Amino acid sequence: MTPVVYTPLYAEYFALRDKLTTPLIRTGRSRARPTQGPTLIAGVAGALTNDIAPGDIIVATEIRHLSRPPQGEAGRVVACFGAALAAGELRRLGMTVHLGPIVTTDHVVDSAEGRAMLAATGAIAVDTESALLAGDDGRTVVVRVVVDTPALPLRRVGMPARGVKALARLRRTAPAIDAWAKAVGGRELVLAAPRSFCAGVERAIETVERALERFGAPVYVRRQIVHNRHVVNDLERRGAVFVDELDAVPEGSLVVLAAHGVAPAVRRQADERHLRVIDATCPLVAKVHHEVRRYAARDTTVVLIGHPDHEEVIGTIGEAPEHVIIVSNPADAETVHIPDPAKVGYAMQTTLAVEEAAETAAVLRRRFPALTGPRTDDICYATSNRQAGVREIAEQSDLVIVLGSQNSSNSKRLAEVAEAAGTRAVLVDDAGELELDLLAGAQRIGITAGASAPPELVDNLIRCLSGLGPVSVTEDGTPTEDVRFALPKEVSQP
Ligand code: SF4
Repeated sequence: MTPVVYTPLYAEYFALRDKLTTPLIRTGRSRARPTQGPTLIAGVAGALTNDIAPGDIIVATEIRHLSRPPQGEAGRVVACFGAALAAGELRRLGMTVHLGPIVTTDHVVDSAEGRAMLAATGAIAVDTESALLAGDDGRTVVVRVVVDTPALPLRRVGMPARGVKALARLRRTAPAIDAWAKAVGGRELVLAAPRSFCAGVERAIETVERALERFGAPVYVRRQIVHNRHVVNDLERRGAVFVDELDAVPEGSLVVLAAHGVAPAVRRQADERHLRVIDATCPLVAKVHHEVRRYAARDTTVVLIGHPDHEEVIGTIGEAPEHVIIVSNPADAETVHIPDPAKVGYAMQTTLAVEEAAETAAVLRRRFPALTGPRTDDICYATSNRQAGVREIAEQSDLVIVLGSQNSSNSKRLAEVAEAAGTRAVLVDDAGELELDLLAGAQRIGITAGASAPPELVDNLIRCLSGLGPVSVTEDGTPTEDVRFALPKEVSQP
């Protein structure tokens, strides 16, 4: 499977010729023919809207063919599965990249009216060759530098300078193109089971969705409802307004408290501001709050095993700050001072690494024989199951990709568990964050997703990887999880 780069024009060809290590072919237009297999079409294009500037990069998500026969099949649409991977690589080079459909026409479209007609179809750029060269297997990538826009058309002073600048920008894309070529190849993908959303996250998201349906926008949400950028962006588009603190919420408004739970002081502040509160705290986090309150009521010190800067831990401490001491790891547990070792208990953050937390608890038990603990483990079922799943796939993979946000504790732990099993692991928000260099040489890739990461991110990643070559997909682990939590009464009762 040899990747090839096509440039339709001589100027494009000369811009890249001495910069690329990947085979480069100048195609021209009249003899251009569709090619199956990994193909990257590089060149210049015209933008269809003015929010795209000369020098910006277009990476096509699909190619739409508007040429008339005999030069092409008008109406043919070709998907570009690897677009997000290429776009991410170009962004990491500091370029402004726009992802969207590109349309191929049989003549140069320069008028504002012509561009507006094409933009109305949802396309973002126009060229005259991509559809002629692209095969139907989804493995074509189109990288085009914008030369002209509706406000700065081809027939306008300054065009030659813009053309020169665009070709210079095209030269700068060479490292990303070579990285794409090195990543090309077929792969085995092993999906961890279970992965992605847990019951607490599903409940929190559905709470905001139902609140939007029932009470209308805006629905205020304190902090990220769950720690995932995609979830937050999606709810924001639908009318949720995320705030850091309740003083940013207008008096009397509706506010949803996030899945990680809050300190009682936050609830008091909500009362003072006459806010209508819907509590989306995960019931398993609420259980830990309850344990801490119980210890405090018996005047017992609680050692809370967790990360002190995590929102869940901050909320839990707030239940009884004078009774809680944080330890993060076994080393902390070795040195922690307890005022009365006869009256000590422990609780845990729900999203810790299972093995490290067990070690920390073991140190505490050794040092404080009177230590009491929760009846069932505080690390939740979703965290334990996902860690067991990723350990299983890590052992058989060259690379593990964990989908999740950097501020998601359970997602970070998944990457750490895979690394501890001896396999390189990366935590990325989506396929666009995946560095192509990592894929070169990784033939068998394990994939999982944190409890706050939407399942469609996994589907998108598989699709992107299939843009580099044929993929086989299998699943390993124990997929069944049947935990469900009832929704808060404010959004569930008629
Ligand atoms: Fe609840 Fe566990 Fe999901 Fe956190 S990861 S929301 S504690 S089920």
